[in-house]
Amino acid sequence: MKLVFASNNKHKLEEVCQILPTSVEVVSLREIGFVQEIEETGETLEANSALKAREVWNWLTEQDLQKDIDGVFADDTGLEIAALNGVPGVRTARWAGDEAKDVNNRQKALRELDGVTHRGARFRTVVTLIMGDKEQQVEGIVNGKIATQEEGEGGFGYDPVFIPEGYEKTFASLSAEVKNTISHRARAMEELRKLVDNQ
Ligand code: IMP
Repeated sequence: MKLVFASNNKHKLEEVCQILPTSVEVVSLREIGFVQEIEETGETLEANSALKAREVWNWLTEQDLQKDIDGVFADDTGLEIAALNGVPGVRTARWAGDEAKDVNNRQKALRELDGVTHRGARFRTVVTLIMGDKEQQVEGIVNGKIATQEEGEGGFGYDPVFIPEGYEKTFASLSAEVKNTISHRARAMEELRKLVDNQ
């Protein structure tokens, strides 16, 4: 089975290949020659994940490449902070502004929760799989809390301020192996594997 992953992120691609069975060949956008930017205009993770998968699937049809590909999947992730009613959610990547770097977003998280005792948060990844005329969605969640200060050197994004449930350390202080077993994305990809197994 050959599936396009609507992403060019090397890190994600590796993670996905480790989780999906070897019978599934995963190809990136670059490999199929899809070079345009996909605008994430949706108001929810579900909408953005579907929008990305549909755009690539439609492009494959236009290029008459669908015959070589069995399906497309796309992911979208958000950090949902309970005390802020699920914010930043769909705006996670650009919470501190359109040009914001990871560190600016993390500082915003710490600022917004300054003095707040209930620091519960979760990462949620929504994956959309399109195969033929069938579109399906699955999600992966890791519950946890926002730390009171940055800690750790590993990972990316909000990792230095996110402490997963059952652990004392942030994602950035845990090994990649541990993170990749319990993370939102790993859990969503595990759900994707079950979907693919059932095709
Ligand atoms: P994306 O949908 O995978 O691009 O994720 C959106 C944003 O969520 C990223 O820009 C990161 O800031 C954040 N994010 C996603 N996954 C993680 C993670 O595993 N650790 C920390 N931050 C993450």
